[in-house]
Amino acid sequence: MKTRAFLFFLLFAPISLWAQRAGYWQQAVDYRMDIDVNTKKHQYQGEMTLRYTNNSPQTLKKVYFHLYFNAFQPGSMMDHRLAHIPDPDPRMTIRTGTAERPTTTSRIAKLKPAQIGYQHIQSLTMNGQATSFQVDGTLLEVTLPAPIGSGETVTFDMHWDAQVPEQIRRSGRNSAEGVALSMTQWYPKMAHFDEFGWHLDEYVAREFVAPFGNFDVTLHLPKDYVVGSSGVLQNPHEVKGYDQNAQVRAPKGKASWHFKAENIHDFAWAADPKFVVDSTKTAAGVTVYTVYLPVDKQVIENWKTAQELAADFFDFCADRFGPYPWSTYTIVQGGDGGMEYGTATLVTGGRNIKSLVGVIFHEAAHSWYQHLFGINETVDEWFDEGFTSYIEELGFQALFEKRGELASNPVINAYRAYYKLALSGKEEPMSLLADYYNTNYGYSHQAYNKGQVFVQQLGYIIGQENLDRTFLQFYDLWKFKHPTPNDFKRVAEEVSGINLKWYFNLFVNTTRTIDYAITNVTTKEITLRNKSNLAMPIDLLVEYEDGTSELFYIPLREMRGEKPAESFKIYDGVQRTISPDWFWTKPTYTLPIPKKAVRVQIDPSLRLADIEAADNSWTK
Ligand SMILES: [Zn+2]
Repeated sequence: MKTRAFLFFLLFAPISLWAQRAGYWQQAVDYRMDIDVNTKKHQYQGEMTLRYTNNSPQTLKKVYFHLYFNAFQPGSMMDHRLAHIPDPDPRMTIRTGTAERPTTTSRIAKLKPAQIGYQHIQSLTMNGQATSFQVDGTLLEVTLPAPIGSGETVTFDMHWDAQVPEQIRRSGRNSAEGVALSMTQWYPKMAHFDEFGWHLDEYVAREFVAPFGNFDVTLHLPKDYVVGSSGVLQNPHEVKGYDQNAQVRAPKGKASWHFKAENIHDFAWAADPKFVVDSTKTAAGVTVYTVYLPVDKQVIENWKTAQELAADFFDFCADRFGPYPWSTYTIVQGGDGGMEYGTATLVTGGRNIKSLVGVIFHEAAHSWYQHLFGINETVDEWFDEGFTSYIEELGFQALFEKRGELASNPVINAYRAYYKLALSGKEEPMSLLADYYNTNYGYSHQAYNKGQVFVQQLGYIIGQENLDRTFLQFYDLWKFKHPTPNDFKRVAEEVSGINLKWYFNLFVNTTRTIDYAITNVTTKEITLRNKSNLAMPIDLLVEYEDGTSELFYIPLREMRGEKPAESFKIYDGVQRTISPDWFWTKPTYTLPIPKKAVRVQIDPSLRLADIEAADNSWTK
């Protein structure tokens, strides 16, 4: 099987020249928005000029916009989702019922007209001609005055007014921590159209996808407000917070904040009169801003520490996952937890330092897995949340907990949470659309934990070094595009020379689990059994009576290759022996051994997600 190792080197070199998904296309947007905010009424008036380029081969007769604020109205689909899901998000409900029979009620159901969110479209033209449009919940369906041909760019002009809802989820006014305006999912956003069709998901809780493009946004707010936002502030000398010598210009009492951002797919901001702004630079020269409420000494100290660590984290990620391509990243206090946006995040700030660093690392890691790679979170939520959580965890251990050398499985906690999920009866396949999980528990543990297991276990299959190379090759091929998990698979296959069809199908599209056992050990042979219906390659460490050890590597036949010798260095220099392939069609495997064994262990690195560890080791 040595020829395969040779093939690996041949394949590795030319990959960056190889274009995946020939004929790939993506739509493009160019937003210019002017927003006049009435902070007393929590309302704003918006004007938008949107240049939209149809790069698809198809002629479009309709387009769609998301009107996310409309979810925050009694009777909305989000309201019904909260009323009927068995484990609603506690941030979005209030406890009702009695001590004996506790229940919850949707906070949305209780909103009064002055507290709801809305986006009312006043006018919408395309190339100056009126369109006909209709609002359906959180979607705006627009019938165009003329079709948009393939390759054509059109200009939409929209006027709308909006009311910022009480903060129920992510966006809204008066967050629990006292931030006046958390403005996420706040503008009419062009829906995503790609080779899979239109993605017209009603806003019921989670996850987004949108075309890449440029944003030029001007916000008019009372002059005492400070804004933290996506993009680069164009006039720091004219507004409060960013420049000590600023001459705040505020004709009619309002200052104008002008931001520009290039090649992002979601734009967010938050504003409060009590915000302070701090900044630092990464080694690579990215400016990291923090914009937060300095409520006490401890909070200020936490934000300063977190900011320095965030700067280090960007350098850490750039080395392993590819350079951060934008010039700024802004961490703004706001919302109700943490959520990622283009070159910015909104996180809650009243946390202990460990939690603050954790959430900032997580959201910053999304700059790669969702913002640079515009993953469709409505479909492949595990691909962005799982990979992001993996990066967060690696960074956290390297920079915050200072463990030095990472343990062989730094995401072992995610494995433990996944095992619980797999045994809970609540697991559904990771390929399910993000909104449709029966429980929030089932959703979050597959996306964040099983998603991490997926990527770490991929390192077990192809070798950690190959996984590391895959990340960088994937970056070269897919930055500023909309990759699917299959695109990642194809890069991993190309880098490793290992076929991964079986893994990406069985681990993602089904809830099958992995369960191997050592069933018999004699003086001459070891018998292993695959007790489950998901076959995997096996690393098997054998310690002999004479004190020596041997690492047997049993590939799966359908891998059509092996991980390279370098992948075994985590086993501290133990001699590796490649054994004949195991077939997934055969539940048992007999391994001859040359000497008497005293101890046998399946996967000492604990990266194989075997749901029952007890029968994975044998001691004489
Ligand atoms: Zn996330």
